[in-house]
Amino acid sequence: MSRKQAAPAARKADVGHAPAEVLFASAAVERLEAKATLPAKFQRMLDRLPMKRICGEAAVALKVHVGGNIGFTTIPPLFIRLLVQKIKDAGAKRVFVTDGSPSIHEATARGYTEEVLGAPLVGAAGVSDRYFYRHPVGYKTLEEIEVCGNIQDADALVNLSHFKGHGDCGYGAACKNLAMGCVTQKSRGDLHLLEGGLEYDEKLCSKCKKCVEACTRNAAKWNAEQDRLEIFYHNCVYCRHCVLACPKDAIKITGGGFVPFQHGMALAAREILRTFQPGRAVHITFLTQITVYCDCWGFSTPPLIPDVGIVASEDIAAVEKASLDLTRDGDPLPGSLPPGHKLVEGRHLMERIHGKDPYVQVDRLEAVGLGTAAYRLREIK
Ligand code: SF4
Ligand code: SF4
Repeated sequence: MSRKQAAPAARKADVGHAPAEVLFASAAVERLEAKATLPAKFQRMLDRLPMKRICGEAAVALKVHVGGNIGFTTIPPLFIRLLVQKIKDAGAKRVFVTDGSPSIHEATARGYTEEVLGAPLVGAAGVSDRYFYRHPVGYKTLEEIEVCGNIQDADALVNLSHFKGHGDCGYGAACKNLAMGCVTQKSRGDLHLLEGGLEYDEKLCSKCKKCVEACTRNAAKWNAEQDRLEIFYHNCVYCRHCVLACPKDAIKITGGGFVPFQHGMALAAREILRTFQPGRAVHITFLTQITVYCDCWGFSTPPLIPDVGIVASEDIAAVEKASLDLTRDGDPLPGSLPPGHKLVEGRHLMERIHGKDPYVQVDRLEAVGLGTAAYRLREIK
């Protein structure tokens, strides 16, 4: 086990439902001068955070999703450099920039280098994704989470995430940056196994493939090798067209849909955060260059909406809720969706795109004792 003592997860009762403070730096420019633009506001935002208490005398892990291949809509290196400097100014013993082991080593091609960022780039689970600590969770098929060793060994965590759409959970930001980004590849696979919502009874199936024809999302696929139906939940919007098209009642909607996956991610985030002492973690989310799919796809598409800004809080549920509220309305900008991608019903833009209610992630964070969705937004000018 780690040399660090596991900190207890904060419970709802501990926070007493008092609104958490979320700082907000708007991308909107009121005056045409450098100090009115986002990098300058970001620096003032960091000055408002208790960086000395969070990072002082600490080995600080700065977790960022560096993307892959020829993607260019991740957080620009300039902002990471500014953040690294503030962490150093706060008296950190050392700071390293980290992400999944294969991604971080390839990130230099996109400008993420020690020279630019001012801190070394370190694989979260060592050079070969084999340095981790086991955390039992015992939820459905998810027996344990393998938390990356270099994350757990750090004294403080700066969770720097980029908000974007995601087919499996509606969106990805602070929770996902931890749950999928601070665990091993094996645990990522185990988390994905929690996805579901449709039940297929092969014994009733006549192999007519009407379900595949009825699916306009390319989610119902025929596995030719096994001669059976397969659901790609990333694309599924739970529209029930396949259920209605089936003449044999071989497909059923089981309810709950993608919620277990979200719950598993919240549990993983909790296991990661509980390795830090209270007051030693902060969550910063960039609501800029918001694309339809995750940065891990290795390419970028045009933004769905105009840039919103940056939010930051010590409360992960609050920062997620604020991120969602600030990106909820409006229609996707022309050219930002794949051709033929139709919107469905939903209360948030990402739900209308991916068919999954993104607020479930906030609800699950609260359910596992990670903060409160009640927040007070404080704008940085
Ligand atoms: S529920 Fe809709 S999107 Fe999902 S597999 Fe069936 S037809 Fe396709
Ligand atoms: S529509 Fe029903 S019976 Fe036909 S292939 Fe699909 S699941 Fe099987």
